Amino acid sequence: MSVEEKINSLRLELEAHNHRYYVLDTPVISDFEFDRLLRELQDLERDHPQFADPNSPTQRVGGSITKSFETVVHDHRMYSLDNSYSKEDLLDWEARIKKVVDGPVTYMCELKYDGASISLTYEQGRLLRAVTRGDGLQGDEVTANIRTINTVPLKVNAPNSERFDIRGEIIMTKSGFQQLNEQRAALGEELFKNPRNTASGSLKLQDSAEVAKRPLTCFLYSIQGAKWPIDTQESMLDQARAMGFKVPAQAKAAADMNQVMAFIDYWDQHRHELPYEIDGVVIKVNDLNQQVELGYTAKAPRWAMAYKFKAEEVQTELLNVVYQVGRTGAITPVAELRPVELAGTVVKRASLHNADQIEKLDLHFGDVVVVEKGGEIIPKITAVRDHLRREDALPVGFIESCPECESPLVRLSGEAQHYCPNETECAPQIIGRISHYISRKAMDIDGLGEETVALMVRQGLINDFADLYGLRMDQVVPLERMGQKSAENLIQGVKDSLKQPYHKVLFALGVRHVGETVAQKLAQAFPDIDTLKAATQDELLAVDDIGVKIADSLMAYFSDSDNWHRIERLRSYGCQFEAMGTEQIQLSSAALDGLSFVVSGVFQKVSRAELKNLITEHSGKVVGSISGKTSYVVAGDQMGPSKRQKADQLGIPIIGENDFFEMINKAN
Ligand code: AMP
Ligand code: ZN
Repeated sequence: MSVEEKINSLRLELEAHNHRYYVLDTPVISDFEFDRLLRELQDLERDHPQFADPNSPTQRVGGSITKSFETVVHDHRMYSLDNSYSKEDLLDWEARIKKVVDGPVTYMCELKYDGASISLTYEQGRLLRAVTRGDGLQGDEVTANIRTINTVPLKVNAPNSERFDIRGEIIMTKSGFQQLNEQRAALGEELFKNPRNTASGSLKLQDSAEVAKRPLTCFLYSIQGAKWPIDTQESMLDQARAMGFKVPAQAKAAADMNQVMAFIDYWDQHRHELPYEIDGVVIKVNDLNQQVELGYTAKAPRWAMAYKFKAEEVQTELLNVVYQVGRTGAITPVAELRPVELAGTVVKRASLHNADQIEKLDLHFGDVVVVEKGGEIIPKITAVRDHLRREDALPVGFIESCPECESPLVRLSGEAQHYCPNETECAPQIIGRISHYISRKAMDIDGLGEETVALMVRQGLINDFADLYGLRMDQVVPLERMGQKSAENLIQGVKDSLKQPYHKVLFALGVRHVGETVAQKLAQAFPDIDTLKAATQDELLAVDDIGVKIADSLMAYFSDSDNWHRIERLRSYGCQFEAMGTEQIQLSSAALDGLSFVVSGVFQKVSRAELKNLITEHSGKVVGSISGKTSYVVAGDQMGPSKRQKADQLGIPIIGENDFFEMINKAN
């Protein structure tokens, strides 16, 4: 067998296993065996880059960066759906259908998957592109991200090789969502609100390797523009299944409206047993010729109707209101409820947002309240049954002092939120700031999580993030659930964080309104912290993206001597307060226009993803494998020997990261 044949047969084999595992849920080989085959293919592809293929199973791990998503016009418009909420609505709809269509009408009932719509285009049986719904006429091309989703076949067995579109919904299962949030909690990152927003947000991530880590699934429900015969919605779903797409098995044909209603009633009752969220069902006229007769309104097909389930609500008793203090001192009231079952889970708490909301509900202790499960994990109180209120019930008044440190709370005019102003001594604020400092996007300290931070703060070991650098083994080892090995990891993680670049340090400081992007812009405009500190408001405002709110927040931050003192301490420990390498160079330009780069190995000053990013930002092109057309190979440590050999063979210059930065700087 030639290398090319071997590569092709491995690709087919891996895709078949992928399909069995993710679409059919019936794997026939172990994960170990699958990984072995995948590695074999990876090795072959690495050594024979001339056979590279964006639809190879090896590409599912992602790695490409999309800086801005291209707008693409859909071949077939993506319509919305009309909504109905009752049996009467459906009967009205049927009456409208019967006016247009002669003869019997049957229906296909499907679940309405709650995620983000997607349109996949296949040509020659291969995934060509994936586009979001957008405004229905045109959407964003997110192919690199969609390729990482295992339930999306990269190659299909279509009845012919002509181009067609297939519509579906990208969703995240409930358990996948929960696991993702658990991982985020462990890293001290902000939690996602609900599976739907997380799924749609994931489609627009720039780094496809990040998307690959998200547990996304794609359900398909409609083929468009097929150049082969399809006569019913039901057989369309069967065809999609046969081609390798995931089509949930719950979809069911109905001979009449009574059967449609039975389907709706069943899933209204049982929807919590599904591993993913639905927000209703979709009923479609089954016969595609009848669909054509019915056609579309300006916004939706006349042959389909969504039936929306009511948000579920229950009544229960308000036991108490407790108050949580966040990193910035913001106070959030939380209702404690008599436990009650709602939407398949037991609810004990509900969020109340702020004082205004408590007032608006005119909440009293002991009230019977209506709790609704909306799209978010934490349910909310939507109404109070005040006719059931006891005469002596006391109104819930907002607290006046901090539940943690007893400082009098402040409320800035125009803001709904109350704050605890005691930044320096209020434990949750201290813990919150340190947790932010160590989080992955900031100093990325491995071996340390929020719980340990809380423990160390409460025991008086640390009081701010600069104290982390003074921690000794003998202080850490005795901590609960710690031990020698974990303590070593923690100390090492803290030490490693000294390598984090200046802009990450700026973000880690937690200056109000200074997010990741702003920190990057600041690092670029003010190459060290002293220059930044000395900047006037005008100088700050001259920087892209920086408005009065951020400028004032920075000025206030630097005018506080405690803050500056903390920075001096961090600097004395060796934290980076000066821009180096990429931080000093312009963020984007046309310097690399017309050049293509292969990136290989591990770099000192930037991650591989950042380097690729820089190439595209400066108008260059990143390619996966070396060919005669490659302009440069940017090589870091541990560059693959076969890549080096290949570059030498073809006479492609190999440059290091410093040469690369110089290239950009010189051109600018
Ligand atoms: P809406 O966004 O409320 O107008 O509803 C239309 C959307 O429902 C479509 O764009 C799809 O993304 C989504 N949807 C979910 N499940 C289905 C399904 N089985 N058939 C058609 N559309 C569906
Ligand atoms: Zn406080």
